[in-house]
Amino acid sequence: MDNSLKIKKIAVFTSGGDSPGMNAAIRSVVRTSAYHNIECVGIYRGYEGLMEGDFVSLTARNVKGIINKGGTILKTARSEEFRTKEGREKAYKNLKEANIDAFVVIGGDGSFTGAMIFNQEFNFPVMGIPGTIDNDIFGTSHTLGFDTALNTVVDAIDKIRDTASSHNRLFFIEVMGRDVGHIALNVGIAGGAEEILIPEEDLGLDRLVESLNKSRKSGKSSSIVVVAEGDKIGKNIFELKDYVDENMDGYDVRVSVLGHMQRGGAPSCFDRVLASRMGVKAVESLLEGQTNYMVGLLNNKIKLTPLENAIKGKSKINLELLRVSDIMST
Ligand code: ATP
Repeated sequence: MDNSLKIKKIAVFTSGGDSPGMNAAIRSVVRTSAYHNIECVGIYRGYEGLMEGDFVSLTARNVKGIINKGGTILKTARSEEFRTKEGREKAYKNLKEANIDAFVVIGGDGSFTGAMIFNQEFNFPVMGIPGTIDNDIFGTSHTLGFDTALNTVVDAIDKIRDTASSHNRLFFIEVMGRDVGHIALNVGIAGGAEEILIPEEDLGLDRLVESLNKSRKSGKSSSIVVVAEGDKIGKNIFELKDYVDENMDGYDVRVSVLGHMQRGGAPSCFDRVLASRMGVKAVESLLEGQTNYMVGLLNNKIKLTPLENAIKGKSKINLELLRVSDIMST
């Protein structure tokens, strides 16, 4: 089927967890649609709003003043009902009634799975834009929000370091990353961490203590250990702290869990530019008749990856960064 002949109205929505840059991507989808004389509709609260018909008409002027805002003006949600055939039928009916010919979903791999199933069931054109701070999606070197989150976390680590070095403290800092250590690895290097604990690598408690003892002997009076949420050493960061407290002398050991502050804030310049580029590609690809793809950044070029590959593929940790981090903590 040639979608290019029939696309006159495109919907856009955000789904799953929010991330900085989502607004910039919404703005880009709306303005690219306007540029090509295509109508654009915003859907509130992701798949929930899709099933409820919670739609709003968006013109180029409606999206002014949002490129610099974190979160998402369209709100976001997770939806159990969309996982059911009945829920998706409701969504399809609403789209047809509103004469919407295609949608762009900004979200993570769960949101892409929903879009892919929807496309298969109703032959409805869909396009994905990766929006998540974790950078855990295959087919793009950067997801929207990742760069902003890195800058936010590095700023927090710099502040914690002031306290660590004033009191000869050892700080365990937990950062987001349930399944992947991209945030931890990058901020660990940028924040001068002694050790970086990520889900992809199990250093073991004894090696951790050994390494911290070594750096203490080398003359360091304070240290930072960056721990990804999904790290497998110990049950959680507090257990880690207790173990190190019991097995090391001379340090006052503290924990700081950065939490949701990592997800908020104004998007970085990088994320704004990336969101603008991805929005243009998403709309123009739909207009060219492409469907069931995710827009990503590969070797600094905007490229399409089939949604199926984006969902199934694994975003791998950069081994060179692991080595750099080891050398830097010498
Ligand atoms: P994040 O990275 O923040 O977790 P995500 O897009 O992966 O973002 P999920 O909660 O996994 O977030 O998925 C968002 C929504 O996508 C779900 O609430 C659900 O409505 C829909 N979805 C996920 N998996 C499926 C599926 N197998 N079938 C239909 N819909 C799905």
